[in-house]
Parts: sequence; structure tokens; C-alpha cells
Amino acid sequence: MRNILLVLIAFLSLNLSTAQTVQDLIDEVDSSRLLNTLNEFSGEVSTVVNGNTVTILNRVSSSGNDLAANYLIEQFNSYNNLVVSDDVYSTSGRNIIATQTGLTQPNNIYIISAHYDAVTNYCADDNASGTAAVLEIARVLSKQCTDTTIVYALWDEEEIGLVGARNYATAAASRGDNILGVLNIDMMGYDGDGDNEFDIDVRNIAGSIAMKDEIVALLNTYNASINLSVNVVDPGTPLSDHKPFWDQGFTALLLGEAWSKNDQNSAYHTSDDRINLIDMSYYHDMVQLCMAYMATKAGVSSNDTSITQTANTLQVNQTGASYQWINCDTDAIIPSATNATYTVSSTGDYAVNVTINGCTEKSNCFNVRSLNEAHSYVTIVSLYPNPVKDQLNITLSMDEANLKIYDINGKLIINESLTNRENTIDTSNLKSGLYFSIIKSRNITNTQKLTKR
Ligand SMILES: [Zn+2]
Repeated sequence: MRNILLVLIAFLSLNLSTAQTVQDLIDEVDSSRLLNTLNEFSGEVSTVVNGNTVTILNRVSSSGNDLAANYLIEQFNSYNNLVVSDDVYSTSGRNIIATQTGLTQPNNIYIISAHYDAVTNYCADDNASGTAAVLEIARVLSKQCTDTTIVYALWDEEEIGLVGARNYATAAASRGDNILGVLNIDMMGYDGDGDNEFDIDVRNIAGSIAMKDEIVALLNTYNASINLSVNVVDPGTPLSDHKPFWDQGFTALLLGEAWSKNDQNSAYHTSDDRINLIDMSYYHDMVQLCMAYMATKAGVSSNDTSITQTANTLQVNQTGASYQWINCDTDAIIPSATNATYTVSSTGDYAVNVTINGCTEKSNCFNVRSLNEAHSYVTIVSLYPNPVKDQLNITLSMDEANLKIYDINGKLIINESLTNRENTIDTSNLKSGLYFSIIKSRNITNTQKLTKR
């Protein structure tokens, strides 16, 4: 029993903070969290905002939807790596914007958005569904460092003429923001006929058609997780918040339930638009598809949080960062332990926060079994050549590990046990391009970008 528990604990710690693939992030989209947010945000149950137990009875902007806006700010503030802005653009309107700055391409921006205002009470599908999706994607993606900047945008006053989104899109155009894609979601939880169809509304503006093609391709790449089929509507409806972005010449589209097949929620814009009409399985897959797009485009570029032990010293292998060591047993930071190395004085579990350009990722918890570990266990001594052609050579300092190689879309291409110190991997079947190799051994994970010539 004890061994089983230990194995379980090791497994859990592996999954807490390993470098993640797009598939991992898709898998993290959590139905129960989506359901909980939908219930709270559509006023079916009470919630806590600023320490007070409250019910968000409605989100009608003209009668004051500040409670809903404050709820959103509090949710975003509970996530890592986000700068939250209360964008009060008029006496009646507030967009709530959370920005996750990209590490390597901070000026390249992808936006995922939904309007949070409503016309009457409840309005679960229109558009608590899109709002909860944006929050869930922010919760998962904000734990990662990404290449590009992601803006999570929740618009006000859509229902009275796309006011919030227009305000933002106009300001973004005059700032010269390099927005590469706006994924706007509005009413995404209803599938009355159960055929799993949804609509993408698109027009030939900037790169919008190519953006549509990429999303359609993701349906195929991740068809093991996402069970949906697409209707492409071109020219798409102008009746949601992607329209102001089209008007400014940005790449944008609308994703939502199948209006084109007359399978939309007929209770919308009434107080009968409640959670009981939401198909949670369909909705979950829709959110997963949005996650697939955002994670793919933003690029999941993880810091190297692998740790090496030599005698009683731990070293995190990422250079050029700032560091904070953590005692995993108490989950408390260790005062003054802010270097790449940390000398432990007792056995136990330790982790480190690695921060580069304001983005923090946490390592796995590293188990120090002895203060005089006979060997320092670096997972990888060498991995070469990189770029690789037909053969990849991997030398390990310990003799058992697992290798996974993913393509840029997060598709698992190679999955092999490495049972020797010297290993040769046949890469002749890989197409040219960028890959990620992930080697796991004990509780160490090493992620590297790998280029195939
Ligand atoms: Zn709507």
C-alpha cells in the first residue's frame, strides 16, 4: 500500500509542473470548473466577490453590472502571470482585460474574447458560456510561459451595439497593436439536436480565412479529445464582437453554436436561457477547441525547470532567470533561497520558481533522498545532433527514462523507453520542422526544442 501511495505521489508531482504540450493543456480543460463558473456567473448560485457572499442576479449594463465585472477581475487576479486591467471606457461601460505577455514575441498578440453583459436575468448561453470559457482557458494557459502575448478580453455592452469591443478595437488600431487573431465566442453551449455541429463565422478580411483553416485543422489533429464538426459560414454574421475588429482590418472570427443549421438556443435573450439548456459535453469540447487554437498560436515555451542534485546542492538548469526555492512539504518559500543553486540541510521535497521576463513557471517537486547522493542525476548528458537528420543520439547519466517527441501541434510522434545510457533514436520518418522532446526520468523532466532538417 505504501508503495502504491508513493507511486501515486510521484505521479502527481510529475503532473503538477512538467513542461506541457498542447494536448496536456486541452486535457486540463475542466468540465466541473466550467459548470461552477456558469452557475455562479449566471446567478443560479451565490458566489463570493471581494469577501462578500453575493448572487450575480443579472449582467444588464444599463442597470449596473459592476458585480459581474468585479467577479471577473477577482478571477483573473487569482491566476499567475496576468496583468488585469479594468478598462472603464465610458460612464456606463467596463471591459475587463487580462494580458499575459509573451516571452519571445511580446508584440505579437492573440485575443480570445467574449461579451459578459446580458439583456436580462440568467442568460447562461448568451454569454456566460463564452465568459466561463475565457476564464477557464486563462486559468490553464496562465500557468505557462508563452511565446506570444495573449489578451483575455471580456466585453461590456455587446447587447446594445458592440460598444465595448468597438472601443477596444478602435484604440488597438490607433496604437498599432499587432493583433494576429481574435477568437470571439458568443453562445457556445447549446446543441439541441445533438449532432455536435458548430459554426465559424468568417469573412475574407486580413488573415481571417487562414485562421478558420487552422481551427478546422485542429479538429483533425485533436479528434481523440474534441468531437465536433464545423459549419463554415462565409460571409459570416456581423452580429457579435468580432465585427469591430473586422472593421479595423484585423484577423478575427466568431465561434459558436450552429445558427447556420437553425440549431441555436431559442431561449436566448429571455430569462429562460438557463444552465439546464446547456449541453455540458458539447460545451466542454467547444472550450477544448478554443484552448487548442490559443495554445498552438501562443506557443508553449517552457522554462527549463529540471533540477540536478550534486551531494547536498540542488541546481535548476535554466540560466538567466530569477529563482525562488520552495519547500514542497509546506508549500512555503524558503527565505533567501534565490539563486540557481540551493544547498539543502535536510532531506525532503523541493521545488523552484523560475522567472524570466516576468513569467514564472514552477518546477516539479524534487525528492532529495540523501544529502550525499552518490551520483548527481542529470537526466540528459547530451542530445545531438540538433538540428537532427536521421538519427538522434541521447546519452543519459542514469539508465532509465522515457522519451516523447511531439510535433509543433502537440501531436505525439515518438514515444520510447530509454533503457541504456547510450540511446539511438530513428528520426528518419520525421518531417522537417520544429519538435519538442520531453525526457522524463524519476521526477525530472527535461524539455528541449528539436529541429528536424
Ligand atoms: Zn451574445
